[in-house]
Amino acid sequence: MEAAVPEPRFRSLAAVRAALAAGRLTVEALVRHYLDRIAADNERLNVFVEVFSDEALAKARALDDRLAREGLEAVGRLCGMVLSVKDVLCLRDHQVTAASRILEGFHSLYTATALERLLAEDAIIIGRVNCDEFAMGSSTENSHYGPTRNAAEPERVPGGSSGGSAVAVQADMCLASIGSDTGGSVRQPAAFCGVVGLKPTYGRISRHGLLAYASSFDQIGTLTHTVADAALLLELMAGPDAYDATCSARPVPPFGESLKGEVPPARIAWFPEALDHPGLDARIRQQTTDYLERLRGQGHQLEPVSFELLEYVVPAYYVLTTAEASSNLSRYDGVRYGWRHPEARTVEEVYTRTRTEGFGAEVKRRIMLGAFVLSAGYYEAYYGRAQKVRRLIVERLQALFRDFDFVAMPASPVLPWRLGELQDDPVSMYLADIYTVLANLAGLPAIALPMGRVDGLPVGIQFMAAPFREMELLRFADSLNERGREGVSEGAME
Ligand code: GLN
Repeated sequence: MEAAVPEPRFRSLAAVRAALAAGRLTVEALVRHYLDRIAADNERLNVFVEVFSDEALAKARALDDRLAREGLEAVGRLCGMVLSVKDVLCLRDHQVTAASRILEGFHSLYTATALERLLAEDAIIIGRVNCDEFAMGSSTENSHYGPTRNAAEPERVPGGSSGGSAVAVQADMCLASIGSDTGGSVRQPAAFCGVVGLKPTYGRISRHGLLAYASSFDQIGTLTHTVADAALLLELMAGPDAYDATCSARPVPPFGESLKGEVPPARIAWFPEALDHPGLDARIRQQTTDYLERLRGQGHQLEPVSFELLEYVVPAYYVLTTAEASSNLSRYDGVRYGWRHPEARTVEEVYTRTRTEGFGAEVKRRIMLGAFVLSAGYYEAYYGRAQKVRRLIVERLQALFRDFDFVAMPASPVLPWRLGELQDDPVSMYLADIYTVLANLAGLPAIALPMGRVDGLPVGIQFMAAPFREMELLRFADSLNERGREGVSEGAME
């Protein structure tokens, strides 16, 4: 087997900043470290689709100058945060393609609000990373750039659709990554790669500059080693934005600073339908029940709560998201953005040949499915009913969160599969989303944390909370993610 990737040099921004403050590190040396890691492993793992080397180094040097002159107080809160971004987020004058041929050569005209806010705090974006085409998939195999590989075992998938983001963090090619989560695309790859994946409440972070897949589900999220870094990135990206009317005007708590302190005993629900599900790998079930038992031992209250709607979540999700996708993706017509079929002669040919050859198989499958469920004769039978299911789910969870703080379940029912294993079986791949789509259907915040390993492969536990309860969720998660917190201490620093 090929050499495993080394342990990350830094596991948290706090550790980076301590090293900067002590004069043991410069931002330039940090960026060079990540560039070296990318040079060493990107070819075999296929993580970055573009590296912004010169730009990142220039920024690093400018920051080092300011640090030398004025110290850490003079720089932004993210000085030392080296990020990668999923290829669905716009960064002005840089390419963005959603890992699709149809956007080949397209350059962003503006920067996504979330990224703008991170850059304003002196984060450095080191490159853009691979994902499933238009974020449709659970394995990062549906990419125009070819599949990304899991660094834990390169014959296996890293999960998806933010698989490039997960491996970039896992393989120490950056400190954190910004992804997007429509049905689990941050949490599931985080679980497959042994990192922390946070999907905030729908509307917490502006979607302006995020290429749309299913607009009433999409939310930007983070992949990090620590909960503290997820909290800080969330705090800085969140908050109202005139460019996104669905972005909440609620005040943003100081997530990044409020993790310390005692965590009160939590009331945690778990669904027997989820843990008894026939599709759940027995080893993951065992790990999960052991984990929940440990939580009980720590004084948290755990209770089984029946959730009969679980069998409807995947069908409802795929009806609604494909409907939204068929509408959102109609803008890629060969006229306005990116790639146009070079031999198309007539208007009709421009549309059909560009879309036929510009989109991959999975994206076309979803556009057709979405167009079908929205078509006049079937609208009520599929789209209308799925909307009703969504409403029932939302109401059921609202009632549940009156009595509980969190819902716990695995992030995925299966271990990372082998590359190609499910490529001809889309339905099996859809069913593997059973534990993650719920949070998107109901707009809830959810976090995936490393729970351990099965046969050397990472597995993740997931917690969901009521809308806008990120503070409670992050505090609780931070108290559990011991390995992540170690990264802040001096000993684990370099
Ligand atoms: N795997 C899910 C899907 O294929 C989720 C994708 C996502 O969250 N972007 O739709």
